[in-house]
Amino acid sequence: MKELTIKNVIIVFTDRGDLNQTLSVNRKINFPLFIPNQKHTSKVISLDEDITQEADGIYLDKTGVAVGVLTADCMPIVLFNDRELSVIHAGWRGLFGGIIENSIKMFKEKPTNCFIGPSIRVCCYEVSPDFIYRFNIDEKFYIKREDRYFLSLQNIAKEKLKNLGIDDIFDLSECTACCGKYFSFRKGDFDDRILTYAYLRE
Ligand SMILES: [Zn+2]
Repeated sequence: MKELTIKNVIIVFTDRGDLNQTLSVNRKINFPLFIPNQKHTSKVISLDEDITQEADGIYLDKTGVAVGVLTADCMPIVLFNDRELSVIHAGWRGLFGGIIENSIKMFKEKPTNCFIGPSIRVCCYEVSPDFIYRFNIDEKFYIKREDRYFLSLQNIAKEKLKNLGIDDIFDLSECTACCGKYFSFRKGDFDDRILTYAYLRE
C-alpha cells in the first residue's frame, strides 16, 4: 500500500501484498469508504445519489469519508482541487465514453490536478488492428511492433486532461501487466483487484 499527499488530498493505492480488495475484509481503512458499482460505464455519481446504481466514477466534496475504485489493468484516476475530488475507473470504454469529462462537470471549481495510478501501459496493452481502425486512434497514441498494436490509454487521458485545462498530472508510470507488483486481468488475475482511494485532509 502506498500513500501520497498532493496539496489537500491523500491518495492511497494497494498492491498484491495487500491482497484482493474486492473483499472488504482485506481493506485497511478506518473510516467510511464508498466504491461505485463499476460496470465500465462513463457515469459519475456523488454521495448524495444512490450508491448502488451502475457508475465508474465517484465525486466527493467533504472530509471524513473516502471514495475509491477497484482495478486490474484499467486506469484508476483521481481528479482534484483543494476542496473536491473524483476517483474514476477508466478503461477504454469509459475513456472513450467521456468519463473524464463527466467527472469534471460535477466539480464546483475546475480540478487542477490529476493522478493516474497503476494500470496497463503501452508496453503490454495490445489491441487489434480493428480496434485502431474502428475508433480512428491517432498514431501518436499507439506503437506498432511488427503487425501488433499497443495502445497508451494514459497518453489519451493526458491529452484529454490538457485540453480540459488540467496540466498538473502525476502519472505513476507503473504497468500492471509487467511490473509484477499489482493484479493484472490480462495476466490472469480475473477476480483480484487493487484499490485506489482518495480523501480530503481535514
Ligand atoms: Zn507493461
